Amino acid sequence: MNGRATSGEPLLSVRGLRLSYAAERGDVRAVDGVSFDLQAGQTLAIVGESGSGKTSLALALLRLLPRNVALLQGQAILNGVDCLTLSDGDFRDRIRWRQISMVFQGAAESLNPIYKVGHQVREVLTARGGHSRAAADGRAKELLDMVRLPPETFNRYPHELSGGMKQRVAVASALALNPPLILLDEPTSALDVGVQAQIMNLFKRFKANLGVASIFISHDIALASDLADTIGVMYAGRIVEIGSTEDVLRAPSHPYTQKLLAAIPRLRSDAPLEFIPGAPPDLSDPPSGCRFHPRCAFVMERCRSESPPDLPSQSGSAVAACWLLDEGAS
Ligand code: SF4
Repeated sequence: MNGRATSGEPLLSVRGLRLSYAAERGDVRAVDGVSFDLQAGQTLAIVGESGSGKTSLALALLRLLPRNVALLQGQAILNGVDCLTLSDGDFRDRIRWRQISMVFQGAAESLNPIYKVGHQVREVLTARGGHSRAAADGRAKELLDMVRLPPETFNRYPHELSGGMKQRVAVASALALNPPLILLDEPTSALDVGVQAQIMNLFKRFKANLGVASIFISHDIALASDLADTIGVMYAGRIVEIGSTEDVLRAPSHPYTQKLLAAIPRLRSDAPLEFIPGAPPDLSDPPSGCRFHPRCAFVMERCRSESPPDLPSQSGSAVAACWLLDEGAS
């Protein structure tokens, strides 16, 4: 599924991405036919509940998959190279860190407790970027400064840093080799609100100043919209609506997107918060037709048997997979 407002050759073009995991109860279709384009310097937010396939999508793009993968199919063309068909060695040497890097929710905990911060940032530069030790030290200090950490952080151990500082170190490492694309998987979920705002401001600064594109994965559509140019809403392994942030927020077309937005607390409204009834489906046996139909207030007969195609919404750029947008729907 693609938003309609794109121009120029995309930095990343994902087509028909499918990822299944083998499980005792049957293959789990975590990502099931996802397509989108991302332009250089832009941010795409992928939002949805836990279990919608957001993180599996990121892991597929990074080729960081568990051993029980049963199917990985489709294309992910980054700067003209299909990341899904490269050998593991080529992907590691040519793409990861150099073309695409990542910051995870638990990135702070991924720092090695026995090495100082400077050593760990330097390691990315020497091992992946071929920098000499002296050049890597200089660049590591520059990176720590870029993420607004004091110079003494270079010689500190991870346990001497707060959660927010450790996440900044993770961001510094992700930026080390100037990749054009960063995957941000719930990068602020483990942080308190004040620190979350600081990290979001950091991302906005890098987007404006360095022109880094990002895929921001979050369950929080309000937070994601702060950074994103485009929002893709994911449900049960599929993108069910995608379009410019403004259009998706102003005129959401898919009932699932509408529910996500109605669940956001508002300061100046007494309206009760909405919630989405039911639970996300078991992806080893997803519902027939529209996968949202067991939870949808607008379900029609055809929704139970026919999977809706991507249809243009009434807003400018968005498309959504919902039969309500079909001209023939009553
Ligand atoms: Fe609801 Fe039908 Fe639209 Fe699915 S296709 S979201 S069930 S109205």
